[in-house]
Amino acid sequence: MKQSQTLIPTLREVPSDADIKSHQLLLRAGFIRQNASGIYSFLPLGKKVLQKVEAIVREEMDAVGGVEILMPALQPAELWEMSGRWGTYGPELMRMTDRHNRAFALGATHEEIITSLMRDEVNSYKRLPLTLYQIQSKFRDEKRPRFGLLRGREFLMKDAYSFHSNKESLDHSYEELMRAYSNIFRRCGLNFRAVQADSGAIGGKDNHEFMVLSEIGEDTIAFSDASEYAANLEMAAVTAEYEQQKHSGNSMKRVETPDQKTITDVAAYLDVQAEEIVKSILFIADEEPVLVLVRGDHEVNEIKVKRALDARVIELATTEETIKYLNAKAGSLGPAGVSENVKILADNALKAMGDLIIGANEEGVHFINAKLERDFNVSLFEDLRFILEGDPSPDGKGSIQFAKGIEVGHVFKLGTVYSESMGANILDENGRSKPMIMGCYGIGVSRTLAAIAEQFNDENGLTWPVNIAPYDLHVIAINMKDEVQSQVADELYKLLTDYRYQVLLDDRVERAGVKFTDSDLIGLPVRITVGKRASEGIVEVKIRKSGEVYEVQKEELTDKLQ
Ligand code: ATP
Ligand code: MG
Ligand code: MG
Ligand code: MG
Repeated sequence: MKQSQTLIPTLREVPSDADIKSHQLLLRAGFIRQNASGIYSFLPLGKKVLQKVEAIVREEMDAVGGVEILMPALQPAELWEMSGRWGTYGPELMRMTDRHNRAFALGATHEEIITSLMRDEVNSYKRLPLTLYQIQSKFRDEKRPRFGLLRGREFLMKDAYSFHSNKESLDHSYEELMRAYSNIFRRCGLNFRAVQADSGAIGGKDNHEFMVLSEIGEDTIAFSDASEYAANLEMAAVTAEYEQQKHSGNSMKRVETPDQKTITDVAAYLDVQAEEIVKSILFIADEEPVLVLVRGDHEVNEIKVKRALDARVIELATTEETIKYLNAKAGSLGPAGVSENVKILADNALKAMGDLIIGANEEGVHFINAKLERDFNVSLFEDLRFILEGDPSPDGKGSIQFAKGIEVGHVFKLGTVYSESMGANILDENGRSKPMIMGCYGIGVSRTLAAIAEQFNDENGLTWPVNIAPYDLHVIAINMKDEVQSQVADELYKLLTDYRYQVLLDDRVERAGVKFTDSDLIGLPVRITVGKRASEGIVEVKIRKSGEVYEVQKEELTDKLQ
């Protein structure tokens, strides 16, 4: 590709609304542009990288027997009503009506579509197992779209769904898909971990997230320094916030073992007597239940509860601060805070929390007001697990470390939830009708791209790994007006292209400084500079990542590049 004939709008300034490296550099190097909050265009270089990632995903999916399809982004509400998710999915689901006033959703995920498809097309165990996948845009009206492609409202996902007639078959596919995912992220050059995404209460083996280790990750993972053990702390335990408090000399107590803890242990952990907790408040913020424990002396400990069993401490504050905080949160719930969605979340929280009582105050904030051991169901917290840095790993190998992670993939054993609600049945070997058993497997393709950019950069720009780079080689003629230089550059461009290299030729009439700066920013693995010594047939080779530079006779170039 000749640079004069494509669109690579590089920027010198760091865009003010981009606060992480990958977002800044993808904008500055002209890979992407934002069209609206959380909505992006992929420019030619961005599209190339996307294709590289997609190609790896396709190869590995195909290798484990996946078959590619393409489903519609526009999905009829009836299907979501059938699965029950029209009511429960919440405001992340983008909803719309057509001219006949029929309701639709823009696909946030495709369980409904694929299950209805399978219901209609497959009715015998003989046709299973089957793994179908697609690479397609997904739509989620994220509350806080941010970090560029990492959390978009329209983003590219590879989603796969497997169908089975028995559990062993699902287990087998799940293992294979786990392996495929590891291959994909390894080939993308990422430093990642497969982590258990549940505390274990729901069956920790049935749900794994693939996390890229990164300081800017929104999840915290606990992993063993001596084994494969890794768990997502968003779900399972105390977070880095705790770590910060510990380091800042806060008086929170360390719980000595990673065993299951009761509410009494939680209190002990927070350095309060269980009896001192006079009040607990559950409310919904950021679409998650938040539990606040209020102490007799009005100190407050807040525990963010996810799925009720899995909690993390996020804040220590006074009552006054808490009230302020609650008011602010009430504001963030929108007018009155009692939208359909909040009700549903509250209902779900209620279910998860057992027999706690949910009420609503004047502002419409749902909350629980209960006294410990009178109307606080202590046993609810028996499964609460605290894992602290330095604890022995639950598998007995090594000790626990914390790291921040970006969720790039997620695999689930769904079982029969969708097939049952949507009537996707098959006849088994004995002619009996039973629901298909399902698995689902997602990869954020555009998020993966950003995660790679986040991991591969330096002070001058991006440093793409060879597998992912939009082109292999950047050929630059320092002075296009110099006939020899432009001729040699052109000659190399043709030759290297014939040798099956993907080549970007900077044939622009620009100052050398501009060309070098852009080239570093774009970050192709190898740069070949055609300069003054072109007349002697000598060009300069520079390895982007290491900075290593050497000169070669142009005839030897293809040998040297091997
Ligand atoms: P998160 O916890 O980051 O919100 P999720 O758990 O909601 O992600 P899944 O439903 O598991 O996401 O979707 C599968 C994959 O899609 C995720 O592992 C992630 O890589 C990607 N993904 C999810 N939401 C987004 C988004 N808003 N922007 C980009 N990629 C996303
Ligand atoms: Mg999400
Ligand atoms: Mg997640
Ligand atoms: Mg997920």
